[in-house]
Amino acid sequence: MLDHRLSEEHEALRKTVEEFAREEVAPVIGEFYERSEFPYEIVRKMGRMGLFGLPFPEEHGGMGGDYFALCLALEELARVDSSVAITLEAGVSLGAMPIHRFGTGEQKRRWLPELCAGERLAAFGLTEPGSGSDASGMRTSARLDGDEWVINGTKAFITNSGTAMTSLVNVAAVTGRTPDGRKEISTIIVPAGTPGFTVSKKYSKVGWNASDTRELSFADCRVPAENLLGERGRGYAQFLQTLDEGRVAIAALSVGLAQGCVDESVRYAREREAFGHKIGEFQAIQFKISDMEVRAHTARLAYYHAAAKMLRGEVFKKEAAIAKLVSSNAAMDNAREATQIFGGYGFMNEYPVGRFYRDAKILEIGEGTSEVQRMLIARQLGL
Ligand SMILES: Cc1cc2nc3c(=O)[nH]c(=O)nc-3n(C[C@H](O)[C@H](O)[C@H](O)COP(=O)(O)OP(=O)(O)OC[C@H]3O[C@@H](n4cnc5c(N)ncnc54)[C@H](O)[C@@H]3O)c2cc1C
Repeated sequence: MLDHRLSEEHEALRKTVEEFAREEVAPVIGEFYERSEFPYEIVRKMGRMGLFGLPFPEEHGGMGGDYFALCLALEELARVDSSVAITLEAGVSLGAMPIHRFGTGEQKRRWLPELCAGERLAAFGLTEPGSGSDASGMRTSARLDGDEWVINGTKAFITNSGTAMTSLVNVAAVTGRTPDGRKEISTIIVPAGTPGFTVSKKYSKVGWNASDTRELSFADCRVPAENLLGERGRGYAQFLQTLDEGRVAIAALSVGLAQGCVDESVRYAREREAFGHKIGEFQAIQFKISDMEVRAHTARLAYYHAAAKMLRGEVFKKEAAIAKLVSSNAAMDNAREATQIFGGYGFMNEYPVGRFYRDAKILEIGEGTSEVQRMLIARQLGL
């Protein structure tokens, strides 16, 4: 029960992704990042490796693995680069997973095979310009007109929504009022290219520059009534479940970034000399790196624990929030310290630690800010 060793399958996957990240992502991703360009070929390769199908059943083109396998892949990718990791995280955990969890047989047959193969990407449109943490403040609406939904509104910061390989966005929208007067929220699948669905140009971002993030607008956008995902009015419950799982995935991604900072710092501390010594001989540098390793290690245990509860089918809301909170803090702290260890070179784009520094901040914001995680933990404690 206390055994934290990975199973043979999980370890084989972890190693495969580690090698892929080191050999095929690390040498080229910096240039994509500087050009703010989406790395299509790398993402397609991740698709051919089966990474987008990891937690889905084989009958829909998946690999028949579990959510923890996805987390391990995210951690290994983010040790090298977070843009490709978030592309995988959003595509699987926010894009394809809701279709797998809540979709009809027909929806799964239609959408999952190409998503599992990584030939196409899916996105999740929840946040709006005026509502993020308080997602129930959304204003995007969808009304039934005959056998079509008519969608109007705007979504902000949507990952994977505007690439040439995007196939759909799961759009959360207000579809009416409940008997007690609250908003009835539902999720509707909107295929890319649907008339009335406009994708804006990419945001100029601080980090995650080789990933795709867009604002989306819907103006009398019509999709068939059967594009409703699951039951009408279940949208709120659907996105709460999606985000609980997504937090464990973001925690894994954060641990990867935190560990990548340790990897780079150890390497640099062994090479760089000052005052006639390798800087790794100075206790001040050793202690910084020891603290970084402690943060990465403890954050990993937190996400393993949350993932284990999830896989056992137990309630894991508090553990997911704890894992997301500690691991995003670990990523931020480690990125700051790694950049310090690299001195002036840490501020140069040619070294990965500068990229880690820019990529770390969003981890304390996306899929629930650190304040939201604390709110969730307090609520689980009965406050
Ligand atoms: C690069 C990027 C990619 C993203 N991808 C997606 C995506 O694919 N799909 C999607 O739907 N969204 C996505 N998001 C949106 C992201 O999830 C939101 O930005 C995030 O949830 C925060 O919402 P907000 O930006 O509206 O901040 P706000 O909710 O306006 O929060 C502002 C500040 O107030 C704090 N705050 C809010 N309420 C409280 C409270 N009750 N108590 C204490 N403090 C509070 C917050 O913690 C924060 O510090 C993405 C964002 C970015 C930047």
